[in-house]
Amino acid sequence: MRSRLRLELSGAVQGVGFRPFVYRLATELCLAGWVINDSRGVLIEVEGDRRALEQFAARVESDRPEQAEVLDRKLTWVDATGEETFAIRHSDQSGERTVLVLPDLATCAACLRDVADPDNRRHTYPFTNCTNCGPRFSIVERLPYDRPHTSMKAFVMCPACQGEYNEPLDRRFHAQPNACSACGPAVHLWDRRGTILAAGHEAIVAAGAALAAGEVLAAKGLGGFHLMVDATNTDAVARLRRRKRRPAKPLAIMAHDLERARELVDISDAAAAALTSPRAPILLLAKRRSEVITGVAPEATTLGVMLPYTPLHRLLLEQVPFPVVATSGNLSEEPICTNEHDALERLGEIADRYLVHDRPIHRHVDDSVMWEICGEVRPLRRARGLAPLPVVVRRTLPCLLAVGAHLKNTIALSIGEHVFISQHIGDLETLASQEAFTRTIDDFLDLYDADPVAVAHDLHPDYASTRWAEECGRPCVPVQHHHAHLAAVLADNGVEDETLGFTWDGVGLGTDGVIWGGEALLGNAARFERVAHLMPFRLPGGDAAQREPWRVALALLWEVYGDGAWSHAERIGLPVVERSALERMVADGVRSPWCTSAGRLFDGVAALTGLGHVVSHEGQAAMAFEAAADTDAAAAYPIALAGDVIDWRPLVDAAIEDIDQAAGIDTIAARFHNALVDIVVALAVRTGCPRVALSGGCFQNRLLTERAHARLTTAGFEVLLHRSTPPNDGGLSLGQILVAADAVEQ
Ligand code: ZN
Ligand code: ZN
Ligand code: FE
Repeated sequence: MRSRLRLELSGAVQGVGFRPFVYRLATELCLAGWVINDSRGVLIEVEGDRRALEQFAARVESDRPEQAEVLDRKLTWVDATGEETFAIRHSDQSGERTVLVLPDLATCAACLRDVADPDNRRHTYPFTNCTNCGPRFSIVERLPYDRPHTSMKAFVMCPACQGEYNEPLDRRFHAQPNACSACGPAVHLWDRRGTILAAGHEAIVAAGAALAAGEVLAAKGLGGFHLMVDATNTDAVARLRRRKRRPAKPLAIMAHDLERARELVDISDAAAAALTSPRAPILLLAKRRSEVITGVAPEATTLGVMLPYTPLHRLLLEQVPFPVVATSGNLSEEPICTNEHDALERLGEIADRYLVHDRPIHRHVDDSVMWEICGEVRPLRRARGLAPLPVVVRRTLPCLLAVGAHLKNTIALSIGEHVFISQHIGDLETLASQEAFTRTIDDFLDLYDADPVAVAHDLHPDYASTRWAEECGRPCVPVQHHHAHLAAVLADNGVEDETLGFTWDGVGLGTDGVIWGGEALLGNAARFERVAHLMPFRLPGGDAAQREPWRVALALLWEVYGDGAWSHAERIGLPVVERSALERMVADGVRSPWCTSAGRLFDGVAALTGLGHVVSHEGQAAMAFEAAADTDAAAAYPIALAGDVIDWRPLVDAAIEDIDQAAGIDTIAARFHNALVDIVVALAVRTGCPRVALSGGCFQNRLLTERAHARLTTAGFEVLLHRSTPPNDGGLSLGQILVAADAVEQ
């Protein structure tokens, strides 16, 4: 008795060798039928013996290809048709587009062997890939994921490549970017005018020589350009920093392999697994004391390290004996360059040589940045290897667009139970990044063929993202910044119940018009109550206070000592000039808004100790303060809780006393961190909610996060941290979606 089974699978099932796997499985079990990619995922009909069909249904999941993930399945028994063979059919392009676009995947071991093998036809070919690895998100133009819908469409496969592509049992069956040196993209080395200096493998050899000579190399990779220099050449690193206008921010390193990376940083088993996984992120790891690199991450205790994730990067690293700095190919905070002609123009002042290729990058995808914290490797910047995989929530959402905040912007789109979060876009400070922002929105709406019923945006009226939302012509839902942080960390953990969230960051506009950032919110996506916040202090000069944390230090002193602040400021060496102007700021609030920001409290107390009086990027003073802390010290400054106000004045007073006694910055920093952990635990105990969530940019501070996590766990609380989204504003668009969904459905 023949039966016929229909299986509809959705998830990460396209571009991962799923159809050849189905073909092999069906053939092995002597089943007839077909498999097809559609816009929802993979559709299979199999016909034959009932027991074999049941086996098929089980094994289609248990034996699935390595990179595949089935998120949703539907099985139906249908009438047998008498079909006798099994076939792979051409893609169907109709219907709702919910198939998962896969992220770009680092080169697999089998492809690396091909590239390294002198007898293989892909020996030294820098664009080698297969269904288990290679570009995806950066080359797909529209769904379903087929070669004519990718930026590989211009390359016609040679007979050998076409043969692999057509052969169901080949590793490259329907590998959309399949290519070789005879038919695929090619690499060139250019000078600053775009003149070709070398081609093919010679270009890679010459690029290595340029690096060895201390030159700055702009290298086109998977999702954009890197700027590279010899990481051990102090002059070259300084030159790159000067030209890129990036004086202090840490730079990432690309090391040859795990062994070589271990010479620079400590690597745990979990970290090693992440580095060598298909995601291949930049991982922030503790610097080794035997430091061969200076100037790369001068103020941090960690170093961002990644391994070569394409054959091109691997072949380039093979040319040089040193690790290379590999930082985003952009000027300051602009979006990463993706086009070689554009790069000549935009990176003209920075790079000496250009290693380019002619496979178009359809959308920019930066390197992801992750760290290992509280037992898991978690993202700090979500892009290559992670985007655009969705966060799956526990209910069906209306179709919504969320436009994120201002810094570290991402956007998000909800379809059904999926929230698709864009790759990292960046700070919306420049015209170029605002263009990247609107391009990414258009791209997402187009890719998923979505028509959102509303647009969620931050409460802040001056953000470029807010202005875009208000002008886009769709209904808008304003979402309070820290409520979005809370909703994001809950969604990331699949929690809908009321939770106490510590949402600590730089700045976000509160519901009362004050700048928030040191909040304890009790609630969920549907509602929240502000159960506590830092005692407000002024930001003298507004934005200037962020660039000059000594101003915040002065404002803190003013709140503690009033007129006595000036003598303290003078004694500890704050660069107070124009006292009368500053007095109008701290006393009368001239151009000096109130804030309750934990991030600024970090800056201000760091500046009291003399660290980071003037900074070049947000969080620099706080990072230096964390790096300075004595991690063995248990003592804490006093900090008080008066109703819903966290009174930090005793803390500042005690810190001033320590400074006067010439206590070390390591001691002061430790006591400060420990005081904040004390107040987190005290508030959790007082509130009594069994779940505590930590979100916001301050929880990129390892000392704060690990201590709070440990103490809360010991005290019996369930502690939620971000898992697949960053705790900073990069995760905000996810939270905005969840909050807006509740508002829209009411
Ligand atoms: Zn491969
Ligand atoms: Zn070929
Ligand atoms: Fe924030």
